[in-house]
Amino acid sequence: MTQLRDNPISPTVDFARDGVQHGFLKLPYSRDDSAWGAVMIPVTVVKNGSGPTALLTGGNHGDEYEGPLALAKLTQSLRAEDVSGRVIIIPFMNTPAVQAGTRTSPIDKGNLNRSFPGKPDGSVTQKIADYFQRTLLPMADVVLDIHSGGKTLDFLPFAACHMLADKAQDAACEAGMRAFAAPYSMRMLELDAVGMYDTAAEEQGKVFVTSELGGGGSSTAKSLAIAERGVRNLLIHFGLLAGEIDAADSVMLDMPDGDCFVASAEDGLLEMCSDLGDHVEKGQVIARVHSVQRTGSAPSEYHAKRSGVLAARHFPGLVKGGDTIAVVADVLG
Ligand code: ZN
Repeated sequence: MTQLRDNPISPTVDFARDGVQHGFLKLPYSRDDSAWGAVMIPVTVVKNGSGPTALLTGGNHGDEYEGPLALAKLTQSLRAEDVSGRVIIIPFMNTPAVQAGTRTSPIDKGNLNRSFPGKPDGSVTQKIADYFQRTLLPMADVVLDIHSGGKTLDFLPFAACHMLADKAQDAACEAGMRAFAAPYSMRMLELDAVGMYDTAAEEQGKVFVTSELGGGGSSTAKSLAIAERGVRNLLIHFGLLAGEIDAADSVMLDMPDGDCFVASAEDGLLEMCSDLGDHVEKGQVIARVHSVQRTGSAPSEYHAKRSGVLAARHFPGLVKGGDTIAVVADVLG
């Protein structure tokens, strides 16, 4: 095997030091407006003695807001004396994307959650992925990556984990997901698992919990509260914080196969015929797409391919061919 070169990121915090530290992951980035510039990724480390390490991230995609907000607030409030172990908080994982309010990086168009394992000598986004892959993930026992739908999708609020071959790891991930206590919980099927942070963490044997807590390119008081409660619950569940888990009923959802996804075949105006959380029957019309080229023509109808609950939808009023319009999940109870 060829030896990978060192990652160019240098942290301004000492991950081994007790106490609260606010600093940066400094990634040199030479560009027109700053020859010797850098991308500065904010990081907070809160450590108190020995114990597990939790790695908490938001802003993996830059247009999803519950994670960045909940974790930014946590960096303002978490005290070292409250923690047993270490909490590493990176609210704006793909910082250039978060600062631009875009899913992908404005620098290299990199989708961080499709860039793993990354490259130490690649693009800015690939360098960030490599630093998580080889430096941060190995430090962690528990990894929480908070997602939402972003500007183009809206989700029922759910915590999620993946089905894993290792039974003990699978059970630990599911227990973490349940501790998060979002209104919904889901064992996720990924359309496209290659290059994901999730996969990178799971392949390193970590307990990995993720979420989709809303979307549309903003957050609400309710969705943020779900994120903040979930983060706290997860830290308590893994023994990093003292206190009682704020339990709540959670509806278990499942996305067992590709029939969950309904995609548009054409461009047009999106008419949703059901809303998030609605029960839909197999064969039911869940959306129509109307032409914006002419009047008087019948819309295309899109049918649910299974019965269940509408768990996600395309958010903007216009769709393009190939866009996912709707996701129908099974309700397990
Ligand atoms: Zn995302």
